[in-house]
Amino acid sequence: MARPKLAHLARTYKRDARGRFARTSSAGSDTAAILGRRKEGRHRAGRTPHEYEQAEQRLRAVYGDRLRVKDRDDPAVQKALIDLDAMPEDHKRRLARHFAGVEGGGLLIAKGRAIDVYKAHGRQDLIDQVWGHRDGQIALGMYTSRTRVAAIGTIDGGGASTAQHEAAHALDHALGWPSQNRKLPVWPAVKQARWHDILHWYFAQEHGKGQQESFAEGYVQWNKHRDDPNRNRKIAEGLGAPNGKTGYDAEVERLGRRLSEFFDTLV
Ligand SMILES: [Zn+2]
Repeated sequence: MARPKLAHLARTYKRDARGRFARTSSAGSDTAAILGRRKEGRHRAGRTPHEYEQAEQRLRAVYGDRLRVKDRDDPAVQKALIDLDAMPEDHKRRLARHFAGVEGGGLLIAKGRAIDVYKAHGRQDLIDQVWGHRDGQIALGMYTSRTRVAAIGTIDGGGASTAQHEAAHALDHALGWPSQNRKLPVWPAVKQARWHDILHWYFAQEHGKGQQESFAEGYVQWNKHRDDPNRNRKIAEGLGAPNGKTGYDAEVERLGRRLSEFFDTLV
């Protein structure tokens, strides 16, 4: 029966009186305002040691020793800390509870690829787990659901933030994989965008993988553009949607709107 499932969704996502997904509360707007200021500082003033140290201090208050950091002198490690700090507070708290549910779960940051991150943090168990997989040896970041570990490397893969991307996979898991729920917006939004061929292949993959990756990278784009009046288009473009290609404007806008309004409702 669907009832228990829907009850669970009612707790997880804010909806208005007609059952639609509601926009953020005023608390969410405050977070957005703080985020906006912080992001501005990040781009204009660069990543000063002072800024990442403050970011780590705030993260430490939420994650405790579930946040593990090596190679702090690496600018990309510092950026990872600043990016994680820029996520909304309620999302961070939700993640912290999720990580605490498994011994050894948490956010691991270090120089290199995911496999180097495992090595730097002495996680032979995770090296053994992913070594046999094609992606295991080359992935820049990786979230492993059984162990609830988000490994955040520093090699630039072209995405806006490996740290937020991997944290978003963990958030997807913490919320019961909304990306895989056909009744929630991410699944149909990606399906429709795939049909119209406006997604980068990585976000258009079949069997739910495209939805999972669109959730993660869409979340990064949402954090980046959430205060931008053109955020719908920019979020969609972050997933590969064509820029200015005639005839696709409505579909691009629709994809971005469905994703951004969905992320607005996450608590
Ligand atoms: Zn991913």
